[in-house]
Amino acid sequence: MTRQPAALWSCVVVACAVCAIRAIAAEQTPAGPAAGRGRGQEPGPTITVHGHTFTQQSLFQRNIGGRDDQTTQFPPHKIIGNIYYVGTKSLAAFLIVTPQGNILVNSTYERNVPIIQKSVEQLGFKFSDTKILLGSHAHGDHQEGDALVKELTGAQVMAMAEDVPALRAMKPGGKEHPIDRVLHDGDTVSLGGTTLVAHLTPGHSRGCTTWTLKAPENGKTYDVVIIGSFGTNPGFQLVNNADVPDIAGEFKRAFAVARKLPCDVPLGSHPAMYSLDEKYAKRAAGGPNPFIDPAGYTLEVDIAEAMFLAVLAEQQKAAASRGR
Ligand SMILES: [Zn+2]
Repeated sequence: MTRQPAALWSCVVVACAVCAIRAIAAEQTPAGPAAGRGRGQEPGPTITVHGHTFTQQSLFQRNIGGRDDQTTQFPPHKIIGNIYYVGTKSLAAFLIVTPQGNILVNSTYERNVPIIQKSVEQLGFKFSDTKILLGSHAHGDHQEGDALVKELTGAQVMAMAEDVPALRAMKPGGKEHPIDRVLHDGDTVSLGGTTLVAHLTPGHSRGCTTWTLKAPENGKTYDVVIIGSFGTNPGFQLVNNADVPDIAGEFKRAFAVARKLPCDVPLGSHPAMYSLDEKYAKRAAGGPNPFIDPAGYTLEVDIAEAMFLAVLAEQQKAAASRGR
């Protein structure tokens, strides 16, 4: 526990695109996740999955986008049923609209909260109707704005127990991180006829949460999955990690959970996880709802798992050669 804060901070800074490279380079704590790969811009292992090739670095970059993508509004839009996109170009925020008020998933960075508010209003909803705030995982690019959202809306903030220590350490401008309800794996969150299920998919953070819900459209009901993250970021230490000794086991548990979830509509904490740009363009062209993409979900899990296994193998090999 005494070493926890250093590791948590490391995760937070590594997750920040703006300073990712600097943070990775600066990360020197032997217990921190950067003790393996990631002190520079090394590409890391390469994977090819169903014709898609990534290095560890390029997959991370795909998710976080360019410097401005994190703080530039993506056009707010309806995804399916009562689920709407209100995030930026590379940081997803979802609004689930119900007759009893709305649920927001991810506040992202605190400086993005006005962008999210604007998106909610452009869709014709009231930000003050946000009754519940949920999150994908305790990294600043997804949940730094929680305190400000609560301040502006009075929403109940709910978080997975395993992420609570990391969230408590997240204090933008000294503000305490609000947590009104602590969730456990399999807990449900219900409002106005919509129920979300919280699935613990750890590894990327201790309490990384993948949310599932059902969305009705044209007389059918679709299974929606909001991926918390299965990402093995540059700097993550999967072997001999003193802070999270079984981090590799936690990742494996996340993939096992992911593969059991029925999914028609994959969404994720970074929109690149579900090819938002491509689908948004298709949506504008008309035709069937492009967000219905079960194969896209499997592909994303396959890519993330292949990268995890490649990074693990590389770090195991390095550890073995050090021990020789
Ligand atoms: Zn993250």
